[in-house]
Amino acid sequence: MAIFYALVMALIAGGALLLWWAWRERAATGLPEGAVLYSDTGVERAVPQPLISRRYGLVGKPDYLLEASGSQRGAVIPVEVKSRARPAAPPEGHMLQLATYCLIVEDLHGRRPTHGVLRYAGGSHTVPFTDELRRKVIGAAEAIRAARRATAVSRSHDDRRRCQSCGYRQACGSEALD
Ligand code: SF4
Repeated sequence: MAIFYALVMALIAGGALLLWWAWRERAATGLPEGAVLYSDTGVERAVPQPLISRRYGLVGKPDYLLEASGSQRGAVIPVEVKSRARPAAPPEGHMLQLATYCLIVEDLHGRRPTHGVLRYAGGSHTVPFTDELRRKVIGAAEAIRAARRATAVSRSHDDRRRCQSCGYRQACGSEALD
């Protein structure tokens, strides 16, 4: 009988250890509440294929897709992880990237996400997927498609560092900044 009780205690202790380990792994990702449906990080159930919205001509690989709980139950929320420290406000490029994932999710899951999450070192920003942000993403995607069809495209910025580290610099010709 003593061996039986010892076995039961060992199983309970093992279960508790597994739960603690799973909680610790989850806490290390810094993710908000919700079941992980998709992960591009290899930490959770990895899905290697990018998400494709044929309707909007968009392709993307968010770091996570979470299934929301509570009042948002069933909604799919994209999460993008950035290694830099949490800024006071997210840069527009990060917002547009996250909003692109929101639009892809809307097309693939038939339900518009109310928000996405930008996870930085030390904290997150919840970004509402507003009508304005949605319009911006659709506009940016259309501009990119138009640029792909064009025979010549002008530089859209004055950032020398961006040109200096750009992989297309050789082909860019006079548009590239020194
Ligand atoms: S080198 Fe050309 S393509 Fe690259 S960032 Fe500069 S302007 Fe853009």
